[in-house]
Amino acid sequence: MSDWKSRLTILQDDITALDDVDAIVNAANEQLRRGAGVCGAIHEAAGPRLAGLCQDIGHCSTGEAVATPAFDLPCKFVIHAVGPVWGAGGGDREDELLASCYQTSLRIANDLHCASIAFPSISTGTYGFPVQRAANVALEAIRVGLVEFPEITDARMVCFSAGDLEAYERALSEIA
Ligand code: ADP
Repeated sequence: MSDWKSRLTILQDDITALDDVDAIVNAANEQLRRGAGVCGAIHEAAGPRLAGLCQDIGHCSTGEAVATPAFDLPCKFVIHAVGPVWGAGGGDREDELLASCYQTSLRIANDLHCASIAFPSISTGTYGFPVQRAANVALEAIRVGLVEFPEITDARMVCFSAGDLEAYERALSEIA
């Protein structure tokens, strides 16, 4: 199926400002603790009940994801995906683990009957994954997921900076 590109939008925004998506993805850590970056912004907007529930869940392995309600955020769910920390040269399965974050999140969104989902640029902040390489991995993983889950009709890649937007737009233009 080749219509996946029409179901993907790449934009520059604050992911917590989106008020018309079913789920947003959090760039979480394995402890599911409130961190800095997009994780901190999501917790701030969702309110303290999110941290309480995350503490009860307690753990999520790298490359995996877990869904919670979104509490005070306007979406229905937050899907907490744990991206890999970038190692020395990417030789520690970073690409595979990053792809798994996107694909697992799409699978969970599909299971929860979400038609729309928004992703941040997982792992490219504190976790240090080079953004162009991450963009290439992310969009290929999203392509596979959107082909697998046709009921997800609106996927968004939300870039925080103009430089990130450029990297993801370049990645999209390079995918057949
Ligand atoms: P990680 O630990 O997975 O690297 P970070 O939160 O440090 O996660 O960074 C991931 C990406 O999220 C970075 O590109 C950062 O600029 C971006 N980011 C930070 N705040 C927001 C936000 N409110 N909305 C969207 N993206 C954000």
